Amino acid sequence: MKNRLYFFTLLIAVFLLISAIIIFGTVFAKDDIKKAYITFDDGPTLNTPTIVSILNKHNAKATFFVLEERIVMYPDYIKDILYSGHAIGLHGVSHSPAIYEGESSPLCEMQKTNNSLKALTGKESRLVRVPFGSSYKLTHAQYKLLCDNGFLLWDWNVDPRDSVGKIYPDKILANLRRDLSKCKDAPIILFHDRKSTANLIEEVVIYLKEQGYELCALSEKQTPLNHMEN
Ligand SMILES: [Zn+2]
Repeated sequence: MKNRLYFFTLLIAVFLLISAIIIFGTVFAKDDIKKAYITFDDGPTLNTPTIVSILNKHNAKATFFVLEERIVMYPDYIKDILYSGHAIGLHGVSHSPAIYEGESSPLCEMQKTNNSLKALTGKESRLVRVPFGSSYKLTHAQYKLLCDNGFLLWDWNVDPRDSVGKIYPDKILANLRRDLSKCKDAPIILFHDRKSTANLIEEVVIYLKEQGYELCALSEKQTPLNHMEN
């Protein structure tokens, strides 16, 4: 009787050990996948449908930091972004530098943008990116107000410079490769919702997939990367 009890206890212990190995193996295997996060600022624009359809064709997800006045201008594009499984973040009302003038003005602009997003889609976003990035003019008081109101501030660590000066697609791709090679964390890639970027985004997506990246949308569960915390 004692031997039988010992045998069953041993059997259960072995079963639990094997289950634990399988579960941990699965978890670690998932963590091993390289993830990259493409983001598009300043939209939606007339180029958004092209960008979204290319992403969808390659089963890639991305994040669009949108302006309030363009949510109103292109409501169908906002719905396309969301219904395709991409994420929407907030980029302010009109991209005016005036967003930095008052202590509460960044918060007010993000809340106004969120109100328009909610009126259109029933959904809000906590993801925010301030115009020109947080290292431009965002003060710690303005940042704290955003955080205290539940917003998650995102900058980037890969900048292909797709909206700076004269646009050369080869140069943008070279910038992308250069920053990726230096990137120690998951790449957060800054692009802009514009025609020249729409024209080369398929090449970018294919390149990133060839490098082994899974292209994901930012999530509100992630710890945001920004210059205010550094
Ligand atoms: Zn912008």
